[in-house]
Amino acid sequence: MRKMSVKLRVTLWYMLAVSIISVIVMLVMNSHAESMIMHDIQLRMERAVGKMSERLVDKHGNLRPPPDFMFYDDGVHMILYNGEKSVIGGVKPFFISYDILVGDNSFRKTESNGERYYEYDKELEILGKMYYLKGFTSAKNELTGISQMLKSNLLLVIIMIVIAGLGGYFIISRAFLPVKKISRTAEQISSGDDLSRRINIGSEIGNDEIYNLANVFDKMLDKIERLFKKEKQFTSDASHELRTPVAVILSECEYLEDGEKSIDEYKEGIESIKRQSKKMSKLISELLMISRMDANTLKTEFETVDLSELLEFICDEQEQIRNGNVALAKNISSGIMVEGDRFLLTRLIINLINNAYQYIGNGDRIEAGLSEENGKVCLWIEDNGIGIKEEEISKIWDRFYQADSARTNDGSGSMGLGLSMVKWIAKCHGGEISVVSQEGTGSRFTFILNKKEKS
Ligand code: ADP
Repeated sequence: MRKMSVKLRVTLWYMLAVSIISVIVMLVMNSHAESMIMHDIQLRMERAVGKMSERLVDKHGNLRPPPDFMFYDDGVHMILYNGEKSVIGGVKPFFISYDILVGDNSFRKTESNGERYYEYDKELEILGKMYYLKGFTSAKNELTGISQMLKSNLLLVIIMIVIAGLGGYFIISRAFLPVKKISRTAEQISSGDDLSRRINIGSEIGNDEIYNLANVFDKMLDKIERLFKKEKQFTSDASHELRTPVAVILSECEYLEDGEKSIDEYKEGIESIKRQSKKMSKLISELLMISRMDANTLKTEFETVDLSELLEFICDEQEQIRNGNVALAKNISSGIMVEGDRFLLTRLIINLINNAYQYIGNGDRIEAGLSEENGKVCLWIEDNGIGIKEEEISKIWDRFYQADSARTNDGSGSMGLGLSMVKWIAKCHGGEISVVSQEGTGSRFTFILNKKEKS
């Protein structure tokens, strides 16, 4: 069986609740009205019987049997009985089949001949003799009135339930409109792969929980779309970067293929193939590392690292490799220990020093520094190279971003991945990386992380 929609279920519950409340209210009102009517009849009968009992006695205190027509007043029929309970005056109303006298001064509801009526008995003492005056009135009118009232109340309740149901359904439909929009958008996205779709719920719907949910959903879609675009960009950038060395290798191979080149030409060709292969190998290993970082599968081994010693060692090594005319000054405080992954910290430092050498331009000085203050360790690599334009500073951390590709695409193998890795490593060590740079003056990259607590 098909499950009922939430809208229908809520409406039905709502209608049920309204019905129960209405029926209870109706019953209470009816019983109240009935008792008020009864009270009214009782008063009317007491009044009529009382009036009659006064008329039965003349000014000397004797019983004055009045004519039969007088035994009726204000819709109340009356019968007079003597002490032996025999009728001595008045007419028995048509709806009563027998004469019965209870004579206890009480007001009762009785049924006779299928007719319902009210009766009221009054005891009289005239000149030492007992008499009884009984009043009757048919309950027909009142009963008809009550049943009519019941019918019209019932009709009113039914109209109320229908209005409540329709109104409830309308309100619930309106409240569920955003939910419908959410599911339609999700369906459109999943069927058409169009991540640009949004719910775009207007504030006119209200500022309620569902409105907030729709907004959160839109924000989530924004994020997913951004990530998706980034991912796409990453794949296309990676393949673009790989295509260049592959093309160079292929063309070199085709050029050397005929076997008629000189030894020097072969040497040069092989050298070029080797260079491009190295570039590819570097790119592949960086891509592998980045994909592991993304998937959180990059194994990290945290240990106590003497950062002073590590920085000192890397600086010496880098200076040796370069063997150039750019000086690498060291300003390293000794004995600074941190908790970190030695391999990743090495990668971070090398990336920063490599960049400093790569973008030194006409500069002549690089400084690697390490200090510690208030439990925080500060590592910096500073150069007086080409610097970075202000508008590019925020972008240099993005993958494959190269501030000036003409300037950087120099066969050095740089592909704009270094700083995004640095950023990830800094984050994974609970640290922060930042840069201060000015075009033409130089740059200073600073990495701040917590010092290892003494155990
Ligand atoms: P790349 O492989 O191009 O060096 P990075 O992610 O390491 O990639 O750096 C991104 C960009 O940031 C570089 O292309 C360069 O424009 C800029 N950059 C990085 N370090 C420096 C620096 N020390 N001086 C000037 N520009 C820098």
